[in-house]
Amino acid sequence: MIIDTHAHLNFAAFDDDREALIEDSLAEGIFMINVGANFPSSKLAVEIAEKRERGVWAAIGLHPLNLSCQKRIARDLPEDFCEDGFDAEKYFALAESKKVAAIGEIGLDCYYKPKTNIKIEAMVAAQKEALRRQLLFARETNLPAIFHCRMAHREMIDILHQEFKKNGNIAGVLHCFTGGTAELAAYLDLGLRIGLNGIIFKMNLDDVIKKIPRQRILLETDCPYLAPPPLSGRNEPKNAMIIAQRVAQIRNELPEALIATANQNARELFRV
Ligand SMILES: [Zn+2]
Repeated sequence: MIIDTHAHLNFAAFDDDREALIEDSLAEGIFMINVGANFPSSKLAVEIAEKRERGVWAAIGLHPLNLSCQKRIARDLPEDFCEDGFDAEKYFALAESKKVAAIGEIGLDCYYKPKTNIKIEAMVAAQKEALRRQLLFARETNLPAIFHCRMAHREMIDILHQEFKKNGNIAGVLHCFTGGTAELAAYLDLGLRIGLNGIIFKMNLDDVIKKIPRQRILLETDCPYLAPPPLSGRNEPKNAMIIAQRVAQIRNELPEALIATANQNARELFRV
């Protein structure tokens, strides 16, 4: 049994075979948390989870790249893909479902940059505002958070540090971790878990992976993205097993022991 703590079966890449894939996964003992990136994908994640008695949960939230200000920078997107800002009222209704295990994915992403400094500043300000609102939302709903951070670790650590100092820690995971040892230390200090996925095959994170305390490791796929090699194309929750094997190899641990600990960590954090 393995829990994929960060999947997106709620995304369009799974529209044609979603139900069959989830049933197959559950039959093989592969559990999952489907993570929202905007309101429609959060709502679908909840609906998918509500259909099952066990093994499938949802996270709801607004991803920084789904803010309207990103729209023209990022890519051509469907009409309802972006939101002007985080509207807690809309999301509160979703949070009533017992299948909601977390608020996410939320955070900062400075990968796509607009052309002028004024626009960059406006983008970062909008992302920070959405993040702050969702930290508050996590407090109000008493749920842990799933954090996304790309090319903005300094700002992210600062915001979390300030906010946690003022209002107390929020439990959570820094998913798809790609930072160095300094960032790792800062996130551990904030009490966060560290999510590892197929990006560990693309970047050399071995030194960092060895330094993560066992009780802080979570396994994830981020499917449909980041298929671990030699696979390519659409990633799936079952490939969490490949991540587990690689992480265990780097840490010189038995895969079964690593998976058991990571599952336990996931159950504690998400209360599933
Ligand atoms: Zn994701």
